[in-house]
Amino acid sequence: MDALLYIDGQWKPGREHWWFNVENPATGRVMGRAVDATAPDVADALEAASRVAADWAQVPPAKRAELLDNMADALMANVDELAHLLTEEEGKPIKEARSEIAYGARFFRYYAGEVQRIEGDTFPDPEATRATFTRKIPIGVSVLITPWNYPLAMICRKMAPALAAGCPVIVKPAEQTPLIAAALFRVFDRLGVPPGVMNLVTGDPTRIGPLLLSDIRVRKISFTGSTAVGKQILRAAAEHVASVSLELGGNAPFIVFDDSDLEQVIPAILACKFRNAGQICVAANRIYVQRRHMTAVADALAEALSHLTVGDGLSAATDMGPLIDAAAVDKVSQHVQDAVTNGATIVMGGHPLEMPGYFYAPTVLTNASESMRLAQEETFGPVAPLLAFETESEVYERANQTPYGLAAYVFTRDLGRAMRAVRALHFGMVGVNDPVPSLAEVPIGGVKESGIGREGGHEGIHEFLETQYVSVRW
Ligand code: NAD
Repeated sequence: MDALLYIDGQWKPGREHWWFNVENPATGRVMGRAVDATAPDVADALEAASRVAADWAQVPPAKRAELLDNMADALMANVDELAHLLTEEEGKPIKEARSEIAYGARFFRYYAGEVQRIEGDTFPDPEATRATFTRKIPIGVSVLITPWNYPLAMICRKMAPALAAGCPVIVKPAEQTPLIAAALFRVFDRLGVPPGVMNLVTGDPTRIGPLLLSDIRVRKISFTGSTAVGKQILRAAAEHVASVSLELGGNAPFIVFDDSDLEQVIPAILACKFRNAGQICVAANRIYVQRRHMTAVADALAEALSHLTVGDGLSAATDMGPLIDAAAVDKVSQHVQDAVTNGATIVMGGHPLEMPGYFYAPTVLTNASESMRLAQEETFGPVAPLLAFETESEVYERANQTPYGLAAYVFTRDLGRAMRAVRALHFGMVGVNDPVPSLAEVPIGGVKESGIGREGGHEGIHEFLETQYVSVRW
């Protein structure tokens, strides 16, 4: 399968006809290729988006809403085909791929409503001789840079509010997953989006990134990915004072108090740590278990994981697929080795799986501590490190000791304790007995080095809008 660039309403092989290969992580085999865009391609995309910005901003909200609704419908009408490709390219089990597409579609549905509620304010005038009000105006050409782990949903979460707000977009997907991005554009291409309003460029980020980020016509950069790259983007945006939204990495604490219900906790750890083989920005990274509960949690978790079917996500029986590539397997292996060297005990797993592709065994470690790399960095793999704690105040302090602040989780049956945890935890999202707090209707995002801005909900569209102050005298 070949994925072309989509620029100014046309599919293009790139001016230089350069390509790069895409692998299926479940087999390690090449499954397709995508165009490696060069400077003239990026220039074409910037030109197209800039040319249509003023016209797209004038399209009436009801018309934009109709298009967004059609996009949601089209995504769901093509869910089988898209899910198959998503699994082949990214590795997640087919059932998870289907939910990712439904989640992506929700953003188009939600912003089809929200676009009709973009409201300004009116203000009283002290002298009663002026009319004073604000208008919300589209910020302008928006560059959307997305990661490979939720390669379809992360595009939707940005593209829906950007188009709703009246901004033309240039999407730059991750180099591991360009094919699903092109498939998404093929679905949308049939819906009559005006040429130039949505553009897709794929290829080497170190070539394309600087070209996009250094252009003064780009007024918004919305980025989801690692904190390290996020910081580079923030610096680059400063050059032309472009607005940035950053959804970055996390290091989520998952706190299990000894009054919690194990029948709820264990499935929650499976969802929060083993979904997408642990390659989730909001994945539980440090699982704090109150000491009295430790043996019970470790045993029950290992028992539950022993029933997990690991394999190619295309098989309906698969519960957990591969990691994205060999580098990911290396990183997870290093984290586990470092933990063992520093005193962790392997309860199960702890090694890559001897099969084609990039598989790592579901792993549980006890005696984990903050001195280990896996408690300091995102492991992004199917490894559950259990850290023992004694008291409530101790665990909140330890949980907060990270430069990250994306998501945190608390499991308890004590309502007072739950609310104390919500107040104490310095994270952009807190799930109380909920391992997957993620709705299109609610703004999500991080604090500290986990990001700037919010995606989803009412706030998500404001990332693509600016406020204009209008004063009319008579
Ligand atoms: P990454 O930072 O390596 O890449 C993300 C995107 O940035 C890709 O499209 C990549 O091509 C591009 N990129 C890389 N260097 C660039 C440069 N110099 N200029 C412009 N673009 C550049 O991250 P990844 O490995 O693809 O994704 C995993 C990371 O994403 C994890 O840290 C994860 O926590 C984070 N993530 C965060 C959220 C969230 O909502 N906060 C959601 C999903 C993933």
